[in-house]
This record gives sequence, structure tokens and C-alpha cells, in this order.
Amino acid sequence: MSVNQQAHTGPPYGQPQPGYQGYQQPAYGGQPLPGVPQSQYGAYNGPMPGYQQPVPPQGYFPSLGFPSKGSPVSLNSDTSSLAPNFIGSLRAPPTSGAPPPATGASLPSGHLAYSQFGHGDVQNGIPASAAPMQRPPASQPFLPGSAPTPVSQTSTFQQYGPPPASVQQLSNHMAGMTIGSTTASAPPPAGLGYGPPTSVPPVSGSFSATGSGLYTPYTASQGPPPTSVSQGLPLAQPPFLGQPISTQRLPTQVPGFAPPPSSTGIGPSSYSPATGAPRPPTMPGPPLSGQTVAGPPTSQPNHISSPPPPSTMSGPHPGPPMSGLHGPPPPTHPPQPGYQMQQNGSFGQVRGPQPNYGGAYPGTPNYGSQPGPPPPPKRLDPDSIPSPIQVIEDDRSNRGSEPFVTGVRGQVPPLVTTNFLVKDQGNASPRYIRCTSYNIPCTSDMAKQSQVPLAAVIKPLATLPPEETLPYLVDHGESGPVRCNRCKAYMCPFMQFIEGGRRFQCCFCSCVTEVPPHYFQHLDHTGKRVDFYDRPELSLGSYEFLATVDYCKNNKFPSPPAFIFMIDVSYNAVKSGLVRLICEELKSLLDYLPREGNMEESAIRVGFVTYNKVLHFYNVKSSLAQPQMMVVSDVADMFVPLLDGFLVNVNESRTVIASLLDQIPEMFADTRETETVFAPVIQAGLEALKAAECAGKLFIFHTSLPIAEAPGKLKNRDDKKLINTDKEKTLFQPQTSFYNNLAKDCVAQGCCVDLFLFPNQYLDVATLGVVTYQTGGSIYKYAYFQLETDQDRFLNDLRRDVQKEVGFDAVMRVRTSTGIRATDFFGAFYMSNTTDVEMAGLDCDKTITVEFKHDDKLSEDSGALLQCALLYTSCAGQRRLRIHNLSLNCCTQLADLYRNCETDTLINYLAKYAYRGVLGSPVKTVRDALINQCAQILACYRKNCASPSSAGQLILPECMKLLPVYLNCVLKSDVLQPGPEVTTDDRAYIRQLVTSMDVAETNVFFYPRLLPLTKADVDSDSLPAAIRNSEERLSKGDIYLLENGLNIFVWVGVNVQQGLIQNLFGVSSFSQISNALSTLPVLENPFSKKVRSIVDMLQVQRSRYMKLIIVKQEDKLEMLFKHFLVEDKSLSGGASYVDFLCHMHKEIRQLLS
Ligand SMILES: [Zn+2]
Repeated sequence: MSVNQQAHTGPPYGQPQPGYQGYQQPAYGGQPLPGVPQSQYGAYNGPMPGYQQPVPPQGYFPSLGFPSKGSPVSLNSDTSSLAPNFIGSLRAPPTSGAPPPATGASLPSGHLAYSQFGHGDVQNGIPASAAPMQRPPASQPFLPGSAPTPVSQTSTFQQYGPPPASVQQLSNHMAGMTIGSTTASAPPPAGLGYGPPTSVPPVSGSFSATGSGLYTPYTASQGPPPTSVSQGLPLAQPPFLGQPISTQRLPTQVPGFAPPPSSTGIGPSSYSPATGAPRPPTMPGPPLSGQTVAGPPTSQPNHISSPPPPSTMSGPHPGPPMSGLHGPPPPTHPPQPGYQMQQNGSFGQVRGPQPNYGGAYPGTPNYGSQPGPPPPPKRLDPDSIPSPIQVIEDDRSNRGSEPFVTGVRGQVPPLVTTNFLVKDQGNASPRYIRCTSYNIPCTSDMAKQSQVPLAAVIKPLATLPPEETLPYLVDHGESGPVRCNRCKAYMCPFMQFIEGGRRFQCCFCSCVTEVPPHYFQHLDHTGKRVDFYDRPELSLGSYEFLATVDYCKNNKFPSPPAFIFMIDVSYNAVKSGLVRLICEELKSLLDYLPREGNMEESAIRVGFVTYNKVLHFYNVKSSLAQPQMMVVSDVADMFVPLLDGFLVNVNESRTVIASLLDQIPEMFADTRETETVFAPVIQAGLEALKAAECAGKLFIFHTSLPIAEAPGKLKNRDDKKLINTDKEKTLFQPQTSFYNNLAKDCVAQGCCVDLFLFPNQYLDVATLGVVTYQTGGSIYKYAYFQLETDQDRFLNDLRRDVQKEVGFDAVMRVRTSTGIRATDFFGAFYMSNTTDVEMAGLDCDKTITVEFKHDDKLSEDSGALLQCALLYTSCAGQRRLRIHNLSLNCCTQLADLYRNCETDTLINYLAKYAYRGVLGSPVKTVRDALINQCAQILACYRKNCASPSSAGQLILPECMKLLPVYLNCVLKSDVLQPGPEVTTDDRAYIRQLVTSMDVAETNVFFYPRLLPLTKADVDSDSLPAAIRNSEERLSKGDIYLLENGLNIFVWVGVNVQQGLIQNLFGVSSFSQISNALSTLPVLENPFSKKVRSIVDMLQVQRSRYMKLIIVKQEDKLEMLFKHFLVEDKSLSGGASYVDFLCHMHKEIRQLLS
């Protein structure tokens, strides 16, 4: 079965675009009613079962506001254009149409009319594709005033969008910008030795998907949509010392950057990972710290490529950097004790490890004012380059206060960091779908020219905040959902009814289909069905259909799914207390299995298995007095020794289960068995589900590399020496294809595998994770698990994982209107053909990123449409289809493309693209490709959209001004440029995590949130304003919190007042603070309460529980913390933001010359 039951009968693409002429959205009626109770949809089977439980959207904190700053004034020129554009489609008042009573045949009686759009004053309901937002309220007949052109029925579609092109670019020639000549980097720190943090496993912690996804934490901002601003960074002449100009924004300007033209500020020197430069074969990237590179900085080669600008440039180097500039210079810096390698590679070291936080430390603009060794090179003032914090705050203040109404085609949503509400008026909420651009080029040539990837990040089962309406469930009766005969697209707001309502023309393929008799409805005088607002599928962007038996495997309705808990009981698992912990937790957790709607108990059945080298199955049938164990020692040919009594209802078998969970830790308490099997465990779960003829999820708790003799046995093949070689990719690939085949079988059965790993050494996540990854499951990793410090994190993750909403046996297909099609997919799933994304399980945190390519021309009038259809089985065994529709604008001017992009989404796509790329290509190749693509994107803008200006200026499109800083974070991430402390398993783990992340998660993962705790207002529930991720922004008299979705660091400066230390940690001095703490002590004072509430709030926002790590300034753990100060140069050789920006500038100039 598949979403697409029937084969395409017609040529899918390339047909003449219908042009929806007739589909005008009536102007009437449509205003969204502010508070229409959702319940009105009761008609359609009521609120969707399954979602009733108002799942407390995690992470949604409406009330919390981040302090905003910056005037809300819209600087963007285009903003005003909203209203004007719309001209078009006003229609006559509905009344005239004498609508016959509308009643859908399939509607259950008694439903209230769905009048979500009944009155109101905002927009109309569904948005016609081209319809502009503001329309006269329904009841008002024509509002001459508001609508410039009274359009009557045939309105023409005016394209909504920012006014055509003229991009205004402000290049600012403000000459003075910032190149400060500060500099001097202090000599590298000598003392901090960085050792692998022993107790703190690096990034491995957990990660998270935001619960509600969306809600993200902070807010953000990109200015109102379209602004086409470009910012010019004039290359200035060297000296403007620090003019703080910066961020003040005039719409566009950014201070500049001004290295004399020729020399572009970007000296080669600054960026190591340079693209084209020849490098030593082995070390593509900046030197991994892991490997010691003794020689000259590897990066040197890079320089080559760029014209060696005179020293004037770039100021990026504060330090001794110059070395980088010229040749393979021996590292200028005196070798420092713990860091040799790091020094390599980087040229301009901007803020390298500083020995001591010298005076300039706290945010002083002049960083490194101390006399540095070499002549102070000029350097770009970090305050003058685009700031993520500023962009986020601006968006929050500009867009966070009003709901985002989806009635307008091609409207760019607020940033993921902005808290906002969504009103569905015909397009899917950005919580479900976000796009890299909301205005896509009409032709493939334009698309290629711009190099802007066209992609959508889709989270089909995203959790919504309580204020928003869950998708309604629609039942079209026995014949199933109404669909286009040819392309099988589902009924949606963009289908156009013709011939008095007897037929409809498909908005995707243009084919005309008969309306089934039971679905017939009259049209009003505007051509719209009179039951338009009564039917979610005609008026909303997202909804669900009840699937018929035709959509079920083997033409049989599915049974409720099952959960099977499979616990490693080998020596390490028992000794660490893990087995006992899991068993204790399950006793209560089993009462919280997902339930459908108002059902009293969960329909999910449960089963239990324990294993080491053999497997133990348990019969927990309710009629037994005690559980029975059955051992299967022939792991080569796994089978399930019992059927009856293995999968049971929790309530019925409660006492037997409790008894089992009490006995398991005792039974294995004295085990000496250290070896484990792994594949047979999955096979056992799979066989059990097959026997029960249901889908389900396996929760496997595993501790070690499976070396026991059995199928899927693995060997330790970890080899860090492969890093930066052509064989590095093998570290990410599974060591055997056995698991791929197993994954395929699991997907076929709807067997999703969630893996909880507790390794004390390498266990080959790249291989063990294959089945999890391909079945849509989740991996959690707790390296060096210790009960005292890690149990809270593990238990929180387990609870959420068990309770969260999940669909089983899922198949997703994305249909598009003529002209584009989905060509590539990224995420945790399996594909057996080129169109259907199959997932044994899909939970509310998982996203699938889909890339689109042209296969024909698009038209500005018609725009482009996406329809994502997800067929799945609910937790109660109901088969359903969730549909999300989205309409986008199309453009013939590149400027329109650049004005409607979303950088956060672009980064999500680019990261996933790169992380998949490492499976097949050397990491260096992947990195270079990323840099090159972004340079092309920016060069195309410069060439085609920006007004003429000096080549020395760096001009960035307003919507992409953070592309360089964010891209640099991706390039410096552990997968693409690992530091010495990062293990092979960490990299494989992160690679898989990122692949399923939504946009909010990748945003905070790559550019962590850094909050000055000591600036928090203890009397309000807001968060302190975030600051940029750079050491120079830290003050040693303050305490900061940094979170990236995996970890929370609390950094304490050496000069923090004793009172604050006492209040937060309960000790009297800095030296007494223990960095072994995994939680903050509970103390009764306002500061402690405030900080703990911030931590709790952040934990709730993420889908995984973050590991808390206390870092004292100048302590060895600080190196780990600094890894996340992503605007700085990294120890593993990653460029600083300033240096990278200079490098990008150079790349762009090369492309333009
Ligand atoms: Zn069609």
C-alpha cells in the first residue's frame, strides 16, 4: 500500500498549467474568526481522536518573552506592500449565490457549521492562491475602498508579492566601517590543557527535537519578509577603528568591511579550509586536532588561492596571524602546550585560545588590545558584521506579536526563534512545513544560476501549541478520500470546481475528475462550493482523512501497535545499575503509553525481552501467577518461542508484569556475561510483531559492541587515523550490509527501532544505528553512563520517547504542481522507489527534508503547490492520511527569490546535504562544495540584484545575511571538522541526529544560545537577552548559560561575586564549585530559582533532555565549552566568523571576476 494507490496514469508533468482561473477565492466570508471554537468541526468525526490529549506542547511558552530590543519599526521597505497588492479577487457577496443547503453526504449530522472564517476582519479564508491577504469581510459586498480593483468573478490573479524587483541595496559606502585595527592576539594559552573531558562526554548527550517544535525559544528575526536589502560592506580602508556602527540598522547597511579592494579583507590567510587551494592530501581540512599534525599548518595552502593581499586586509587576524598569510610558515605561535595542533591551520587566529583572559576580555571591542607580537593587522570589527542575535531579536519584535495567518501564497513565516501563533487559512503551518524560499524561480536556468536549493523541511506530525487547532479528521465514507483521477492528489483548497460543481480540475496536474455523488455540492455565484467553510479539506492547509481498507496492508485494517522493551542484561548493564533503573521506571511508565483521544487506556500492547549472548522471552499472560522465561540460545536463526502471552495489555497483566520487572534485576545480578548480540535482538522483535500481525516499536537498551557469535556480529574498526583521508567516509558507513537488509524487513513490517546506548567505549553507532535510522526511530546515547549523574537525563528521554505521538507503518509522498517535482529526500526513513518515503514509525519530532527540481517552467500566475500526504496507523490502530498543502509564489526576477528566502531552513538543508555527503566523499570535498555553493548563491545576488558598487564591498541579501556565519558553524561542526575530543561514535551519532532535525533544532544546534544569567531579571519570567557566541562577549564577572539542544553549559567567570556563587551553588567561593554537578542545587533564593526555571524551561523546549555541565573559567572543561563559541576560531581549526566572512568575500569576488 502506498499513499499513491494507483499508478499515475497520465503524464505527470509538463502539462499545461491550468492556471486555476476559476478558482478565485471568493473574497467573501473569509475572515478568520478570532475565536471560533474548534469544536465546530465536530461534524467531521469530531476532533481528531488521537490528538485529543492536549499534549502539553512541550516547549511552548507563550508568555515568555525575550526581551526585545530594537524598534519594531519596520525597516524593510517592502513591508508595506501587503495590502496594496491585492486587487484582485474580490467577489460578490456570497449571499447572492443562493447556496443550497450544504451538506456533504458524508457528514455526520449535527455538525455545526464550520465557520471559522465567518466573520472577522482579517483575511479571507482560504487564500486563493494568489489572493492577497486583506480582503473585505465577507459580509460586506464590495468594498470599493479596500480593493482597488473590483474584481468580480474573473479576477485576475495578481501575484502577491513584493514589488518587483528593485532591490535596493544599500551599499553603504559608509566608509568608515569597521575595520578596527585592534588585534594582537594574545599568545596562546599555555596552560589549559585540554584533555578529553573525562567525565563529560562530548557532545554525545542527547539531542533534541523540540517538542513542539516550533516553539522555539528565542525569537528571531529576519525582518519582515521581503526586504531586499543588501548590505554592503564596503571595504574600507583600514582604519576605522572600531566604529561601532554596526548593527544599527538602517535597513541594510552593514558596516563594513573594508579591506581595500584588492586585498579584500579576506585574506587568504584567514580561512583555512579554503576551497580551492591545494592542500596536502591528507589533510583536507583544517587539521583535526585529533591527529596531530606536526608540520606546518595545513591550512596554508589555502592561501594560495587567494591573492595575497597585503597585510592590510583582513583584519581578521588579531594575532600573530600573519603567518597564515604567507606561505607555509611555520607556526608563528610558540607551540603551546596543549594545543599544538590547533594552531595549525588557522590563519588568522582571531580569538584563539587565549591564555588568560586578559583585560580586554569582557566584551571590549578591542579585543586583544594587548600588544600582540606581530604588527597588529587590521581586523574587521565583529560588531560591524551581521549579528545572529540582532536578526533574531528584530524578527521577534517585528513578527512575534501577531498571528501568522496562512492565507497568503508565498508568505515567509517568522523565524523559528520567534514565538508566534499560526492561523491556518489554507496553507500548512510553518510548524509542519518550512521552505528555503517562498518564491521560486520560474525556470530551471534561474534556479541553477542562483544555486539556491529549493527545499522544504517537513514535520508531518509536529506538535502544536495548545492555542492552535489540531488537524481535523475528515471522513469521505466508504469510497475513501476524494482524489484526482490522474495524479491521485487529495482534495485540497486549491482544487477548482467546475461545471456547477460536478467536476473538479486538479491543481497539480490539471486533470478533470468527476465529483462523486456523495461529495457533490453546489457552487455559489463565485464558483466556490457552498460548503467551503464547512470542510477542512476545502478551507484549510492541514487536515486528516480517515483511510479506508484500501489503504491498509493486505487489505486488512491494522491491529493496534505493540511496544517491546528489550534490555541488555550483560555484566556492564547490570553492574552500572542500569537494568534495575529501567525495570523500576517501566513499572510506572507503562501507565503512560500513548492513547488515542478520549480512550481510557492505551490500545498498545507490550512485551519484554532481556538478552546478552542469548535471548530471554517472557510470558506475562494475565492468567499466570508468575512470569515465565523462555530462553533462545540459537541466535543464528531467531524465532519467537511463544505467541500467546508475549504481547499483552498492561492493565490485564499488571501484576505479572510488575513481578517480572521486580525479578529481572535479581535474576541477572550475578551475571558474568560480558558479550552481547545485537541483530538477533532486532530480529526477535521483528518476528514477534510479524506473528502478532501488527506494527510497533522496539525499545532496545544496549551497552556494547556486539562481538558475540551471531548474525550482525561486529568488530572494533574505529580508527581516528582515517580522519582527513579518503577513507574517512568508512567511519560513517556501516561495517556490514547485514543491518541494511534487516532494516528493510523491519520497514516492511512497520517495526520501528529506538535505541538507547550506554557505551563505555566504541560500539559502532554507524552500524548499530542503521536499523534505527532507516525505520524512523531515535537513537539516544549516554556515554560512560553513571547512575548518579545520568539517570535523570536518561529517564526523561525514555519517558518522552515512550509517550510521544507516533504514527506507524507510514508512507509519505510529496506531490507538486506541474513544473517542479521532489527529487531528493533527507531524513530517517527507507525508500524502495524514488517517490515514497517509508517509515516504520514517524514521531512528532522527526522531519523529512525534501528537495525540488524543475522539470518544466513555472508561471508567476499559478505559483507552485506542494501537497504532502502521510499515510499512517495511529496509536490505536486507525489508518489515516494527514495532508499538508502549501502554495508558493514563482518569480522571473532573481531579486524576488532572494527576498523570500529563509536562511535557517537553507542551513537545515545544507547541513543534511553535507552530512549525507560524508558517506560517499571525503570530508574536505564536502566542505569545499558547501563553501562553493554558498559563494555562488551570494555572487549571483551580487551580480544580478545588487546595485553596482565597488568590488571591494561585500553585499549580502537581507534574508541571507546570516548565511556566512551559519554556514561556518556547519563547516566547523563535529561531523565535518572534528576536534580531538570527538569520538567516531559521536560523529556518527550527530550525523544521524541532524538528519532528522527540524529547522529550530538545527538553528540552535549550529549556533547555540548563550544567555548571561547574571543579567536575568529575577522578577520576570523572561529570559535575559542572548549574546553572540564569542569569548570576547563573556565577562569574567558573570555567569552564562549556553545550550545547543544537546547540552547546557553553565559557565562561571573567575571574578563572579561571591554572593552570586553562594546563591547559585551553595558554596562560598569559586574554587569550591564542583564541576561534577549534573544539576543545580535547589536553593531558596531568587537567583537560584530564576536560573533553575530557565534551565527547566529550556529542557522542556527540547525533545531531548540536555546534559548540564558546569564549567569554571580556566578549568580544563572550558575547552569543551569554547568549542561552542562558534564565532571564534575553533581548536580544531575552524575559522572564526570574521575570518570566514572574509574568506567568503574572496570567493565571491573570484566568481565575479
Ligand atoms: Zn491531479
